[in-house]
Amino acid sequence: MSSDQPLLEVEDLTTTFSTDDGTLTAVDGVDFSVDTGETVCIVGESGSGKTVATESITKIIKTPPGHVEGSVRYEGRDLLSLPEPKLREIRGNEIAHIFQNPQEAMNHCYTVGWQIAEALQIHQDVSDEAARAKAVDLLDRVGIANASSRFDDYPHEFSGGQKQRVMIAMALVGDPDLLIADEPTTALDVTVQAQILKLLDELQDEFDMGILFVTHDLGVVAQIADRIVVMYAGKVMERGGVLDIFDNPAHPYTQQLLECLPEFGGTGGGIPGTLPDPHDPPDGCRFAPRCEYAEEACRTGGQPEEIEVAPGQRVSCVHYGPGGSPSVVRSEEFGPANGDETGPTGGESGVGPADD
Ligand code: SF4
Repeated sequence: MSSDQPLLEVEDLTTTFSTDDGTLTAVDGVDFSVDTGETVCIVGESGSGKTVATESITKIIKTPPGHVEGSVRYEGRDLLSLPEPKLREIRGNEIAHIFQNPQEAMNHCYTVGWQIAEALQIHQDVSDEAARAKAVDLLDRVGIANASSRFDDYPHEFSGGQKQRVMIAMALVGDPDLLIADEPTTALDVTVQAQILKLLDELQDEFDMGILFVTHDLGVVAQIADRIVVMYAGKVMERGGVLDIFDNPAHPYTQQLLECLPEFGGTGGGIPGTLPDPHDPPDGCRFAPRCEYAEEACRTGGQPEEIEVAPGQRVSCVHYGPGGSPSVVRSEEFGPANGDETGPTGGESGVGPADD
């Protein structure tokens, strides 16, 4: 892989599902990339397609009824063209996933240490003793105190935060270059959430991983993201560096997400209205039915082409395109209600339910 090539490069990703009501398009022509050592957050409400987009990368969605098209290049290899056995080697090895609910991902009949050791032996030809030693080391590295004695404990003997630490340890068994984390802190209280985010940050430095982080919670995004991709109804609305997006959100949807945050004067609730039916999305901009700035031009054709509004920041909205007027949607006064120019630094704020 050449050094100027992203670790992960996703182009025109489209994921559909066959349902009794016809074809549902969950992800519709989405592009994004992740570099080594950077954290990219995909953010959006429940139903925006962010989880399906990340699960399409290594095709962990059930196929059929799912169907994935487009290009997913990982370290120069086209993942979507690989046969399932090759993809399985990459999953959990070079690309690891962690999910929202560690409870469901663990087997409650086996000790935590045994489960990590078994995962290790699936990926590496090591003895039982070596697997145990490495499992204890991983438990120690993710902050489980007295790791050696906790090896023989069962999942129910761990707290929610400890279980998520164990899941992170399991994700690290293959020394992944890319970690895909889907709402990994949503089920945790704010204090434990902050600890897990700090742990991921430290492990990223240690392992030089790229992290693709899925969340509905912009408070979390503010703490960990280098870049943000804002998705709505299967499309990308806006993308850019974390400071650009928080200080100067260009898309009305991004602005509304931020305005829900207490730091921006919101109540922590969601945006009024609902996402469009993915079986029959509206013409034009997907956000038009909920957008206070929608005009006739917003309701014809496809999703507006992304326009660069600042270096690295691009937005899909007619008001930034030819003949448009960005001042219609872009307020010079956008910023945290408390005057904190650095934007939110965390908390339990969110933009909606997390069951994407
Ligand atoms: S294109 Fe129109 S509907 Fe979409 S965000 Fe811009 S103003 Fe709103």
